[in-house]
Amino acid sequence: MPKHPPEPFRIKMVEPIRLPSPAEREAALKRAGYNVFGLRSDEVFVDLLTDSGTGAMSQHQWAAIMEGDESYAGARSFFQLAEAIHEITGFRFFVPTHQGRAAEGILAAIMLKPGQYVPSNMHFDTTEANILARGGRPVSLVVDEAFDTSLDAPFKGNLDVEKLRAFIEKIGPENIPFGMITVTNNSGGGQPVSMANIRAVSEVYHEYGIPFFIDACRFAENAWFIKQREPGYADKTPLEIAQEMFSYADGATMSAKKDAIVNIGGFLAMNDEDVYRRAANALILREGFPTYGGLAGRDLGAMAVGLHEALQEDYLAYRIGQVRYLNERLKGLGVPVLEPAGGHAVYIDAKRALPHIPQAQFPGQAFAVELYRAGAVRGVEIGSVMFAHPDPDTGEMVYPQLELVRLAIPRRMYTQSHLDWVAESAAEVMALGENVPGYRFTYAPELLRHFTARFEPVK
Ligand SMILES: *Cc1c(COP(=O)(O)O)cnc(C)c1O
Repeated sequence: MPKHPPEPFRIKMVEPIRLPSPAEREAALKRAGYNVFGLRSDEVFVDLLTDSGTGAMSQHQWAAIMEGDESYAGARSFFQLAEAIHEITGFRFFVPTHQGRAAEGILAAIMLKPGQYVPSNMHFDTTEANILARGGRPVSLVVDEAFDTSLDAPFKGNLDVEKLRAFIEKIGPENIPFGMITVTNNSGGGQPVSMANIRAVSEVYHEYGIPFFIDACRFAENAWFIKQREPGYADKTPLEIAQEMFSYADGATMSAKKDAIVNIGGFLAMNDEDVYRRAANALILREGFPTYGGLAGRDLGAMAVGLHEALQEDYLAYRIGQVRYLNERLKGLGVPVLEPAGGHAVYIDAKRALPHIPQAQFPGQAFAVELYRAGAVRGVEIGSVMFAHPDPDTGEMVYPQLELVRLAIPRRMYTQSHLDWVAESAAEVMALGENVPGYRFTYAPELLRHFTARFEPVK
């Protein structure tokens, strides 16, 4: 198989995009307060802000949209989705939700009491927020390798089984209503989790009677990494690997905006009938009747088709190959990146790229602004703008270990020449060297400030 397999599809419908002039980009940056979240999408040429809900649906998915059954109860599209989820996950029950965080919200609402703990390799921010909102405590127990950005290891998303056992012994299993694992580990660079690790984590949870839920947003990408990297799986299909992954768990939360390649949707699946009944009642209160769950019938049909398409080998080879291609192109042009490439995004190491900018002046933010200025490319800072906070005791600023710019690749949307454009724009930023200024806040809200903050360059 070629290293960077070409797109296993051809393009039947196009959405025009336009490169704004340098003057237009400058005006857009000023208006947005040098925050790429404030840009209009029409002002962006290649948009790598997120891979969530931004993928291109196939002709089969659009056909499912046209054939959607909009009956309030017992819709045909619901049973189409039920069949897909049952075949892939094996779970006995599920409820559809409008996206992943709704599934997490329901799981936390029905399982979690204030003061209880939920371990995982790393929780995604919405999962963490849903646990906190119920008075719970999210705990990250990812392997130490995850924090070594230049270490090329196959499964840097693994949960540290020894840490998990020690944690359960310390806290007591009665204080852990359920445990999780995120595949792939989005908050840790989209790194995969091995089958051996999922199996071992499942054994530990179950030894203590703790139900085990998989955050399955990128289950297909994770299955592909297992097939490529884990001994014994090369001859298995991604579907068989996914089935084995889910066989070790008691349930799953899913954002279908990722590996089901739809623009909206999600689900919560489980084996326990009592958990299902409570989830269905919570669903009726928040989302809708259990056979549509906050979605249109057509959305359920598109999700059913997308779940299977995400497991096709030629698609996964192309998808993961495309992310690796961008990583290698950047590296080849002298742009420092995280190693190895993850499943859905590449991460530029802004600390190494712009060493003259101190963390207090946001090197990641500076790189993201300059990348837009160079090529109207939108990525997102994952560094001090997002995570730096004053120490509650001393008032001194605490800075995160990493200053990154994430370039998330939407599914089936951009071609290799778009990625070349991105890499060459990033190389232009590198060529500016010490001419790239740092930034300071002109406005910053207290919580989740990266979304709405405004900046000015430091002269
Ligand atoms: C996106 C995501 C979620 C939340 O899903 P939404 O559909 O955005 O609500 C949860 N977990 C992970 C790992 C994700 O990537």
